Amino acid sequence: MPSCVALIVAGGCGARFGAERPKQYLDLAGRSVLHRSVSAFLDHPDVSGVRVVIHPDMRDLYEEAVAGLDLPEPVAGGAQRQDSVRNGLEALAGDPPDLVLIHDAARPLVDAGTISAVIAALADHPAALAAVPVADTLKRGEHGVVSGTVDRNGLWRALTPQGFRFQDILAAHRAAAGLALTDDAAVAEHAGLPVALVRTNEENFKVTTPEDLDRAERIVMSRLGDVRVGQGFDVHRFAEGDHVMLCGVAVPHDARLEGHSDADVALHALTDAIFGAIGDGDIGSHFPPSEAKWKGMDSVVFLRHAVECVAARGGMLAHVDVTIICERPKIGPHREAMVARLAEVLGIDPSRVSVKATTTEKLGFTGRREGIAAQAVATVRLPW
Ligand code: MG
Repeated sequence: MPSCVALIVAGGCGARFGAERPKQYLDLAGRSVLHRSVSAFLDHPDVSGVRVVIHPDMRDLYEEAVAGLDLPEPVAGGAQRQDSVRNGLEALAGDPPDLVLIHDAARPLVDAGTISAVIAALADHPAALAAVPVADTLKRGEHGVVSGTVDRNGLWRALTPQGFRFQDILAAHRAAAGLALTDDAAVAEHAGLPVALVRTNEENFKVTTPEDLDRAERIVMSRLGDVRVGQGFDVHRFAEGDHVMLCGVAVPHDARLEGHSDADVALHALTDAIFGAIGDGDIGSHFPPSEAKWKGMDSVVFLRHAVECVAARGGMLAHVDVTIICERPKIGPHREAMVARLAEVLGIDPSRVSVKATTTEKLGFTGRREGIAAQAVATVRLPW
């Protein structure tokens, strides 16, 4: 199997889009456009590594956009796309892969089949690009009036990834410096390399306008059509202390909650709800209380792990709803902080987080102030 590195080109400043940040750094259904583009290659079994080329001024946006992904240091791009790609290739030249796939960061919906097909084409050709045959009749226009019909026969739209045998494209890019070619296949053509056309699908489009981003979001959501609801319940008893942990927030009280970890009963119920939604055991099976290392543990660690389990399955959290059941402490004054904390840990918008509280009218163990109960519901969307 030849080694194959993906070079993700994210060097643009995206002025065309008119948004507050370049399009590759915008949110697309809970993850950045760049995160999705990079993940498509990181997750592909035939891709051994990923390097991203960025505009050096966009370092902070980059870090935010790829948070959680295991990536080497990004490469600083150049003035034009062609310069950025050449910089990326030069950065790989010290430890050159056999093959390189060059991909636009603004094509977040590239599928594994397209990546496989481009790699496969490189067995017989030094270069190959993802492309779509032109289906519409093409018109040439002048001043808003048709001046001619272009024969579409044999015409293709060039997309990415574009794949190359590494040494060939490195040499071609070095030779083409300053020529202002608009894609890497053109650089290969300029060097006289035959370029194979690999038919891709229409969903591998480039996010260029706000309408494109809406369309991409609809496609992502339609791929996450397996909607699951999980529920969780937990109880901890009071012991001597001066505060309780609830939803990751320290709430002053005349007792603490007793437990192996920090006894955050609300986080335990919520963590179980998420495991329930994905059918992946419960908090006890992931973090056995018999293991000393979880003693006194911040329960946010448990919740984060549940969120990672959802992400590992390609899913997303749509909504959580937590109900805390006790007479005291009063939850109301802390509710906003709890929602903010949960939203941060879950990586979702606060509008998708609900924290509620109720008493049991002085009935039962919560009514007698012996402890706190919590229940939670989590809605998760998974790929079919
Ligand atoms: Mg518990």
